[in-house]
Amino acid sequence: MSCLFCKIANKTAAAEIVYEDEKIIAFKDIHPKAPLHLLIVPKKHIPRLSLFEDEDVPLLGKMIVLARDIAKQNNFGDRGFRIALNEGKDGGQTIFHVHMHLLYGRRLMWPPG
Ligand code: AMP
Ligand code: ZN
Repeated sequence: MSCLFCKIANKTAAAEIVYEDEKIIAFKDIHPKAPLHLLIVPKKHIPRLSLFEDEDVPLLGKMIVLARDIAKQNNFGDRGFRIALNEGKDGGQTIFHVHMHLLYGRRLMWPPG
């Protein structure tokens, strides 16, 4: 298996893991773009959002709810944060194992570059 995020999920590659359950793992982005920058990743290898099957849809809900819970646990309060899911080359995706970015701690620009 050559996929980096699969390797992180099965602990054959290192990462700063902040959350893990049977289906999802969350770890710190190695090149943070905000004071807090996590990647929320399904353990199942789905290369990109466009390849999600209907049966995978609950995973997306879990990923978003996890972002909410991390926000609550870290007392993000009212400041807000961003979740982002890059799809394909034009979407800025560089690692082809679906992942959701959670960015917090600075005023983020819109639209992104
Ligand atoms: P994307 O461009 O949406 O595919 O995002 C891939 C993200 O993975 C980037 O923000 C990278 O900084 C991050 N990344 C790459 N390698 C690692 C790693 N070994 N551990 C944690 N994050 C990584
Ligand atoms: Zn993978």
